Amino acid sequence: MIAEKDKVVTFHYTLTNAAGEQMETSRESEPMTYLHGANNIITGLEKAMEGHAIQDKFSATLEPEDAYGIRNDNNVQRIPLKRLKGIGKIEVGQILNLQTNQGPVQVTVLKVGRFNVDVDGNHPLAGEQLTFDVEITDIRDASEEETQHGHVHGPGGHQHD
Ligand code: ZN
Repeated sequence: MIAEKDKVVTFHYTLTNAAGEQMETSRESEPMTYLHGANNIITGLEKAMEGHAIQDKFSATLEPEDAYGIRNDNNVQRIPLKRLKGIGKIEVGQILNLQTNQGPVQVTVLKVGRFNVDVDGNHPLAGEQLTFDVEITDIRDASEEETQHGHVHGPGGHQHD
């Protein structure tokens, strides 16, 4: 069985940036599970998975466009502290969920002033060339329900309560 549309794929990965620094790894916890062909993971990684079998080990280097996108300086904004009432103490590096006209946006705090906070709405890995070292640990057929929902159910997947 190989990774292709309507298969549920489980894999371990280690993510490094262009400088060779490790950014993330699944090795110390549970492997990741996703539904292939449903945009559950970043485009470039899904493409690299295609056609691989259980126990395959490979690495894929993705340009920012195929990973978390290009950094956009317009996503760095100064917002009044008043708007963040109720969040409590705000610190540099903290991730906040802001309500905007376009819906909730995740931002990283860059600087905290007396009246304003500078936040960055870019994904923390935006603009980075990333290498994924992947080991596929399991592949199975998706259930009809999973295919309809566009995500995985059960261990490592979506829980419906
Ligand atoms: Zn579901």
